[in-house]
Amino acid sequence: MRKKIVAGNWKMNKTPAEAAALAQLLKPKMENDKAEVVFCVPYVDLIPVAEVIKGTNIRLGAENLHFEDKGAYTGEISAPMLKEIGVECVVIGHSERREYFAETDETVNKKVKKALEYGLTPIMCCGESLAEREDGITIEKIRIQIKKGMKGLTAEQAKQVVIAYEPIWAIGTGKVATTEQAQEVCAAVRGVLGELFGSDAAQEISILYGGSVNAGNAAQLFKMPDIDGGLVGGASLKEEFEAIVKSY
Ligand code: PEP
Repeated sequence: MRKKIVAGNWKMNKTPAEAAALAQLLKPKMENDKAEVVFCVPYVDLIPVAEVIKGTNIRLGAENLHFEDKGAYTGEISAPMLKEIGVECVVIGHSERREYFAETDETVNKKVKKALEYGLTPIMCCGESLAEREDGITIEKIRIQIKKGMKGLTAEQAKQVVIAYEPIWAIGTGKVATTEQAQEVCAAVRGVLGELFGSDAAQEISILYGGSVNAGNAAQLFKMPDIDGGLVGGASLKEEFEAIVKSY
């Protein structure tokens, strides 16, 4: 049975005090024995949120990391730094980081490898733009992102990775992909994972859908055979996140 995961991506929202208050508000609502719950929060919020969720089923996630252990990379944060404060997961290659911070499939690949080296679960994002969907090249785009992002991994390593399929046109826009569109691409992701790592490994890798997931559409999306949960932005900052987590 593949792991089911509902991860919140808080993006650049909440000061440390606000983050602790939000974690406190959500904490009693997150119990779920069918799915893992992850709070991916800004760097400065990690320690206060870790304190609040200690002893619960909620796992702590970061939104990025650097691909080196240490060194002259002003402003960056490394895997050992995250590990030491109790981070378990890390979002890698979110489309916002690709668009605004020049992340490429090559840096994504280095970051995935570094996360794995330190026992952090990478949540590796992929997704097509609206223009790519309209040009009919969605599947090609996703296949390239998966192949390049996971280049050089063994099947054992690949099984530790979580993939988040997030069509860029659906992120923060309120335009959710239909269940059929989301399932089609998630199935294609599993297909390319099978080609790369074998079908047994591909069956074990959790694939999340992200893009305007809310309390009204989560249950339908999570029922699809190749969708193993969600990466949730806006709605993860609200009490509505409870209903999304409880869609399992
Ligand atoms: C995201 O940040 O990964 C995301 C999917 O955002 P939203 O749910 O707000 O579309």
